[in-house]
Amino acid sequence: MARDAGFRTTLPVSGRRVLVVGGGSTALGRIAALRDAGAEITVIAPEVVQSVQDLAERGLLRWDSRAYDTADVSDHDLVVPATGDPGLDARVAGDAQAFGRWCTVPDAVPGPGSDTGSDTDATRPRAGGGSVTLVGGGPGDPGLITVAGLEAVRTADVVVTDRLAPLGVLHGLDVEVIDVGKIPRGRSTPQEAINRILVEHARAGRRVVRLKGGDSFVFGRGGEEMEACTAAGIPVVVVPGVTSAIAGPALAGIPVTHRGLTQGFTVVSGHVPPGDPRSTVDWGALARTGTDIVLLMAVATLPAITQTFVAEGLDPATPAVTIADAALPTQRVVRGDVATIASRVAEAGIGAPAVTIVGRVAGFAPSV
Ligand code: SAH
Repeated sequence: MARDAGFRTTLPVSGRRVLVVGGGSTALGRIAALRDAGAEITVIAPEVVQSVQDLAERGLLRWDSRAYDTADVSDHDLVVPATGDPGLDARVAGDAQAFGRWCTVPDAVPGPGSDTGSDTDATRPRAGGGSVTLVGGGPGDPGLITVAGLEAVRTADVVVTDRLAPLGVLHGLDVEVIDVGKIPRGRSTPQEAINRILVEHARAGRRVVRLKGGDSFVFGRGGEEMEACTAAGIPVVVVPGVTSAIAGPALAGIPVTHRGLTQGFTVVSGHVPPGDPRSTVDWGALARTGTDIVLLMAVATLPAITQTFVAEGLDPATPAVTIADAALPTQRVVRGDVATIASRVAEAGIGAPAVTIVGRVAGFAPSV
């Protein structure tokens, strides 16, 4: 249930110093919405969920890993109490008032019988039976989730999500959020554990939404989640999403097909490079396919992949563009050709998530 319209429409926080006290699932939607709105965010919390840690590691917010202190409010334009502990939130709000700082209204202290969104809900069966809805959330801007996807999130009892999902849509929702974020080459929650979470919550009679970035079935492991739920007798609904494979180039003004330039596009994962025994892609055939090539999960492997394309006969002057953080306020676009794109991406300090498109259409766009 929506409690308010969201920071984006209610608060002009762009460039403002915002203190968020708390970094757990209660704070996650608020932090994402503030990030979407361009705030300069400091999070104070002894522990944070993985998506918040990821934002901190990418320099998109500052995280002070410690307990809140009264004096913390004084340095900020806006204070957001979001610890999940109503007593502490009230104290933060009181401190903000004492220091004359703007402060968002803390969540109400739950009354008897009210839904606190706490773990104990997981064990409370709900009439009507549980279900799992796999929602493709689009590339990251909350505006790019579908109407059906947003409706599913709004009516969910629990949302199981990770860092590439449009976390800003969670802001203002009265829903339990479980962050099972996966970070490339880093910590991760094994897929089996995620499947178990989905099944267990649905078995307890809850409406579970699995909220993913892009489309759940494009390198999103949605197929495995569907299998696991179906095997457990849980009804599954699929809500397709806008995939970054197409939206990333589009947001840089690049059409993945264009009459006269290309008759198709091929989307591949670059998580393992050419020559790696785990790679099942015929990279040579890809170089000669005549379609655009869209590479996902291919920042670290871009040098090896592009060298292979050229070695296999792709014209080195073929245009190539990398779009990082597509649809997010931090979106960056690096242009080059297949011979130069890897070094330009490295020079620009681009990290995941990024999409690279190789092909004549990549030279099509004027700068956006
Ligand atoms: N299901 C997702 C893809 C998940 S695989 C989808 O359909 O978009 C993860 C990869 O997707 C990243 O490594 C990156 O290549 C790409 N990606 C996801 N979100 C992105 C974004 N906002 N900007 C650029 N690339 C993105």
